[in-house]
Amino acid sequence: MKRILVVVAHSDDEALGCGGTLAAQADRGAEIAVMFLTNGVGARRVAQNDPRVTQRAEASRAACKVMGVKTIFQRDFPDNQLDSVPLLDVVQSVEEVVAEFKPDIILTHFDNDLNVDHRVCHQAVLTACRPQPGHSVRTILSFEVPSSTEWAFSAPAFSPNVYVDISAHTKHKQQALEAYSGEMHAAPHVRSIKSIEALARWRGATVGVEAAEGFCLIRQISKEI
Ligand SMILES: [Zn+2]
Repeated sequence: MKRILVVVAHSDDEALGCGGTLAAQADRGAEIAVMFLTNGVGARRVAQNDPRVTQRAEASRAACKVMGVKTIFQRDFPDNQLDSVPLLDVVQSVEEVVAEFKPDIILTHFDNDLNVDHRVCHQAVLTACRPQPGHSVRTILSFEVPSSTEWAFSAPAFSPNVYVDISAHTKHKQQALEAYSGEMHAAPHVRSIKSIEALARWRGATVGVEAAEGFCLIRQISKEI
């Protein structure tokens, strides 16, 4: 049985980046956990009992339920300031979760995203998952997050080489995004249901299926090709 860990900076990144894939894999019996590095609320320090924090946590629980995610690891690094934290602290936090959950697949942010938290998250995952003897992680994939990946205009573009057919799970992705309605915008904003559906259609059309999510393969270790 596959064990998939999604490591993201903010709750909603997982639904935007791989919501359909998670729902599809959960249907196939995968055990899925998501780790949120920040509470996703505001750039300044916000109390853990702030209503915005509890609302966002509720939204993430609802979204995760739709996507078949059984476990949530919530951390409290400062939102939009992940670069102000020593990288080692973030790395150790990811290492703890990897040691506890023992995933064989990790999904995380693209390294050139505009959002600094996303870039730190990617770096922390790669460092935490150094392929030392006995390490559980076989595959690391990065995904795109609308309003961050494609907005880093001058950086090398996200060019997926792994596609997951989510034709049967576009509804799940949409429902997960609806749980995060406070983070969504009206079309033609790139972070609108319409635009995200259009992206899924385009990624699908690229490989001849109705809808897909695209990933960049960062690393894969296996006994066969
Ligand atoms: Zn984010």
